[in-house]
Amino acid sequence: MNSMTYMEEAEKALLHTYNRYGVVLESGKDVYLYDTEGKKYLDFAAGIAVCALGYGNEEYENALKEQVGKLLHTSNLYYNPPIIKAAELVKKASGMDRVFFTNSGTEAIEGAIKAAKKYAYTRDGHADHEIIAMHHSFHGRSLGALSVTGNKHYQEPFEPLLGGIRFAEFNNLESVKALVNEKTCAILFETVQGEGGIYPAEKEFIEGVAALCKEKDILLILDEIQCGMGRTGEMFAWQNYGVKPDIMTVAKALGCGVPVGAFLMTERVAEKSLVPGDHGTTYGGNPFVGAAVSKVFEIMERENITEHVKEISAYLWKKLEELKDKYAHVVEHRGIGLMQGLQVSVPVGEISKKALEKGLIVITAGSDVLRFVPPLVIKEEHVDEMCEILDGILAEYER
Ligand SMILES: *Cc1c(COP(=O)(O)O)cnc(C)c1O
Repeated sequence: MNSMTYMEEAEKALLHTYNRYGVVLESGKDVYLYDTEGKKYLDFAAGIAVCALGYGNEEYENALKEQVGKLLHTSNLYYNPPIIKAAELVKKASGMDRVFFTNSGTEAIEGAIKAAKKYAYTRDGHADHEIIAMHHSFHGRSLGALSVTGNKHYQEPFEPLLGGIRFAEFNNLESVKALVNEKTCAILFETVQGEGGIYPAEKEFIEGVAALCKEKDILLILDEIQCGMGRTGEMFAWQNYGVKPDIMTVAKALGCGVPVGAFLMTERVAEKSLVPGDHGTTYGGNPFVGAAVSKVFEIMERENITEHVKEISAYLWKKLEELKDKYAHVVEHRGIGLMQGLQVSVPVGEISKKALEKGLIVITAGSDVLRFVPPLVIKEEHVDEMCEILDGILAEYER
């Protein structure tokens, strides 16, 4: 089938919840994707910060194939070796104590919310606890995750949502303090806001919230679903600051393409939180995803991926600064590690579409930000290639 036919079929059959780009992707190699017409694309989106190892990593693929030949799924009624290993590795990398594997980021958020509510319930016997989340945040599309997503446009048609959620301004400690009361059980935010437009937490903010949480026995929940797994130059973005969450969520690059997420907590939280009967999942943490997660950690650690990210992201930073300095319609450059954004004053969706025509995949965030979340294995030559294409596009807007 040619790509036109694929797209027509898709628009007839799939629920129209996305306005997709007019490209049918078929295969990938290294940091390039290929469509059904054989056209090649340099990938600076990585399936939305998922494919950290790029495409066609043989060691990773062989580990998956081997597990497929052994056992795909059992259930959480039994133990299985691959997920036990995966749990050890994610614990070691994060310094957290307990992990629950999910199938997605949104489910990790659901679990984190339940874990925090149960902790508070065990502590004081009340069932009316509140959570403070942030405006312009994104935590997923299920009703719990949507309830803590500070975006009216996403929320409105699905109200009433979860009660007891209050929204503060990200990076505004006073706005958080103003919402704290005796019912507050958790404060939740992304260590680096992704969908909202690439805003890293400021040091004073995250450390101030952590101190506030400690003082009042409120749980700090950090959403590392997009910024975690090495993307910021540390395995988890909060490791760039002097804080540690009580609960954290991870997904996206955790399985590098195999659908898996997790929420983790410290022992102190776990002792007063979810027990048998409180939470569960059929697929979550099955042997197949266990093999994927284990191999992802193994490769990232052996290849010292965080060091590579530190180096290559400094190069990306320098090159994007050059573009910002060159064009007046590039308003701001933000980010950390391989999670960077350029805020532009020209239509950002249009830039993204033009890039695609020129063989570059780059996505948007917020309403006016070009988002760069490439595979973590990119090299200087790829940054150069990307910037050259982007330079050409940005030049078109000069008057
Ligand atoms: C993508 C994302 C989610 C939701 O993850 P899904 O796997 O799409 O359910 C939650 N939080 C953040 C920060 C994300 O980037």
